[in-house]
Amino acid sequence: MSPFARFLSTAREALYGRHIPRLKSTGDTAITQIEAPERVRLAIAGQVAVVEVGETVEAGDLVARTPEAVRFQRRVHASLSGTVTALSQEEVVIEGEVPDRPPITHSEPDWISPESITDTAREAGLIGMGGAMFPAYVKLSRVAPIDVVLVNGCESEPYLTCDQRVLEEQRGEVDCGTVLAMHAVEAERGLIIDRETYYPGGYERLLIRDVLGRVVPARGLPRDVGTLVINVQSALALHDAVCLGRPLIDRVITVDGGAVGRPGNYRVPIGTEVGHVLDACRVDVSKSAAILTGGPMMGRLAERLTPVTAGTGGVLALTAAELSRSRTQPCIRCGHCMEACPFDLPAAYLAETPHKAVLGCVECGACQFNCPARIPLVERLQRAKAVVTAWD
Ligand code: SF4
Ligand code: SF4
Repeated sequence: MSPFARFLSTAREALYGRHIPRLKSTGDTAITQIEAPERVRLAIAGQVAVVEVGETVEAGDLVARTPEAVRFQRRVHASLSGTVTALSQEEVVIEGEVPDRPPITHSEPDWISPESITDTAREAGLIGMGGAMFPAYVKLSRVAPIDVVLVNGCESEPYLTCDQRVLEEQRGEVDCGTVLAMHAVEAERGLIIDRETYYPGGYERLLIRDVLGRVVPARGLPRDVGTLVINVQSALALHDAVCLGRPLIDRVITVDGGAVGRPGNYRVPIGTEVGHVLDACRVDVSKSAAILTGGPMMGRLAERLTPVTAGTGGVLALTAAELSRSRTQPCIRCGHCMEACPFDLPAAYLAETPHKAVLGCVECGACQFNCPARIPLVERLQRAKAVVTAWD
């Protein structure tokens, strides 16, 4: 990051992020394998299962794929070795054992074509692990000229430190994944952005603006400004797929919050139920006011049967005090919501009066977090976006 970009980022942090605490107490906790779950629930909506109930599978076996004619291809692989015990259009349930993870050694192939990297990413079922869950092979295809690959390790949501730990412990593999991504899109530069930033500075449009000074058009994509952004764990998964022949079957998550007895960073098979994570990490349910998958700003309320997906950065068990919920009050026109918005959007106005400017809202929640009246601005902005989108 250039000194100017760093100055800009720090200034934005002072302006926008001052009220959002980082709460990253697990940053020094080394990654450990979570206690083995008895079963996993693999989401396969829109795909066709290639296994049957009663079938025995090895971890890494293909269990579902999209039909050939579908534009964006997906693949799902078994994350446990065991038996398929249930199957529906929505999920495959496997009961069994966590396989030994092959030793993670760095072994960059001598030469590999950009097409083979893309094909490997597709067949390994790689998807965006920053939360977008979009098939990675599409981003890695050369559909537009790309000159820079940014590997996003900012992790600006409070509590989450899993990407930071992956960077600490598996930097060589992430570096290799970055080089592979650069090779796939024929980019000249690759940057791993590993500094903490203000919330929501890790959002890819802001990252591109802060690091490269490029502005992604309102309805455009990073590739429109010659940039590919991938998450740290996506880069690691690309290394694992190309260099170890390993499909995407697990990820590192942060488990934290005031109700968690054993907070930390855990490697978890994809499809592990949140209930298992809560039990393994000694969550005191009597203290917990909300269980979330993801961070507190953009995460979702979860239940015990909710599975950990490739895009799940964390499982949080927050106390009522941490949620600091209070009753919604009328708007006092203080303007804090607009001051907090990284895109300078007048959130209070847009939440009440649908205007096409609302389409620039990324639903980051910074405005809502800073609202003293506790107005559910994100929900209202989402509704306004739906109204404006219907105008087109
Ligand atoms: S208006 Fe949208 S983009 Fe701006 S702070 Fe609120 S949620 Fe984030
Ligand atoms: S921060 Fe809340 S109270 Fe203040 S203007 Fe915005 S919506 Fe109204």
